[in-house]
Amino acid sequence: MQAEVIVVGAGVMGSATAHALARDGRDVLLVEQFQVGHDRGSSHGRSRIVRLAYPEVEFVELAKEAFAGWRELEQESGQELLELNGLLELVEEPGQSSQGALDAAGADYELLDAERARARWPVGVPDGWTALFQPEAGIVRADLAQRAFVDCAVARGVRLEEGRRVELLDELDASAVVVTAGPWVTRFFPDVPVRTTRETVAYFQREGDPLPSVVQLDPETRGHAMYSLHDPVYGLKAGAHHAGAVVDPDESGEPDPALVERIAEWVARTYPDAEPEPVAAETCMYATTADEHFILERRGKVVIGSACSGHGFKFAPVIGTRLAALAADIL
Ligand SMILES: Cc1cc2nc3c(=O)[nH]c(=O)nc-3n(C[C@H](O)[C@H](O)[C@H](O)COP(=O)(O)OP(=O)(O)OC[C@H]3O[C@@H](n4cnc5c(N)ncnc54)[C@H](O)[C@@H]3O)c2cc1C
Repeated sequence: MQAEVIVVGAGVMGSATAHALARDGRDVLLVEQFQVGHDRGSSHGRSRIVRLAYPEVEFVELAKEAFAGWRELEQESGQELLELNGLLELVEEPGQSSQGALDAAGADYELLDAERARARWPVGVPDGWTALFQPEAGIVRADLAQRAFVDCAVARGVRLEEGRRVELLDELDASAVVVTAGPWVTRFFPDVPVRTTRETVAYFQREGDPLPSVVQLDPETRGHAMYSLHDPVYGLKAGAHHAGAVVDPDESGEPDPALVERIAEWVARTYPDAEPEPVAAETCMYATTADEHFILERRGKVVIGSACSGHGFKFAPVIGTRLAALAADIL
């Protein structure tokens, strides 16, 4: 395997990195152990939440930059990738919301009490809670977006090798190597502080116009407890954030029935117009750091890109650009 830059792992982050490198005129080989779009890692599925609303202003700014990147990818691929129906952030107290960071970043939002929110959308905001509505949010069509990165990268000259597992980075003949191996990153770097969990998501039949994506914050941590978003096939996708068991990514696994039940109970409370019984469920891997920040770092001629913690997809265009810049510093 020989190239100026070899990217190991063609999930959304590796695909975005290969695309960004090709845009800069680099000679790139993108290597994937399975087939692009496989369901063993973190990037499969039809939708992911995109949002500006984050409690930290640096994430709001990063999300703004990423939106511009998605628009560029839409132009280049000729595909609509973002569907923006807004976001409802559900909090027990307004002070727990992303209000402060959105103010600091000059982003629009509305704060509504539970009654006003329920009058506007068929979403069961808990009594006494507050809904922060942020319009620059909704979903990215995940499968289409990942395919668009790969296709646009290949159109720009990137060589894609699927079905090939890199065992040793030393075996790669490249001036720079980018490791975007998702939950497999610790195979190469056991000291990278990520834990890999198998998460469960469930799908529910819901007719009618897409609703805003929803994140319900845990009053203690301000982290997400439950989330939901539009699914282009069934209407509704929902999950419990950071609820899955720690697993080895090489071992396959099934959706956790206890989690499916917990998700279904929340959906029944939150979506009066959705069918309460799930129509499908699937697993997806998180590679999580303690503070949910990302690891983007250089070690010699290797760049490590581990951007998950269950919220990385929306940032893929900007993560790809950052990782490509780190690789370019090596060349
Ligand atoms: C249930 C769930 C819900 C999520 N919801 C959201 C959301 O709403 N919004 C959001 O922004 N983000 C969300 N995320 C996070 C987002 O999906 C991830 O941040 C993103 O997909 C991470 O992509 P990745 O490329 O780093 O990892 P992966 O997609 O896992 O890609 C890594 C790739 O590397 C390959 N690989 C590994 N080792 C090797 C090797 N040795 N040789 C060759 N190839 C190798 C793997 O096969 C894999 O294809 C969610 C994630 C999950 C699991």
